[in-house]
Amino acid sequence: MRCSLCGKAAYAGRLPFLFQKRGTDSAGYARAYMRSYQQLVRQFNYCQSCGRWVCDDCFSIEGDRDACEECAAKSV
Ligand SMILES: [Zn+2]
Ligand SMILES: [Zn+2]
Repeated sequence: MRCSLCGKAAYAGRLPFLFQKRGTDSAGYARAYMRSYQQLVRQFNYCQSCGRWVCDDCFSIEGDRDACEECAAKSV
C-alpha cells in the first residue's frame, strides 16, 4: 500500500499472499489476512472526502473532521 500524496510505502510485517493457501485452513488464512490488514490500516488513514489512503504525515486531524492535507487545505 502506498500513500496517495507522498508515495511512501508501508507493508504489514507479513503479507497474506505469502501464505500458501492449502484449502484446509481458511479460517487461519482469514485471521492472518485481517491481522496484516489491520497493521496497514494503523499506518494509513482513509480520507472520507477523496477516498484515498494517505500516511500519517499527510493526514490532518482537526476536531472531528478527518481529511488528508490536500482536502483539509481545500475546505478551509
Ligand atoms: Zn504521505
Ligand atoms: Zn482527501
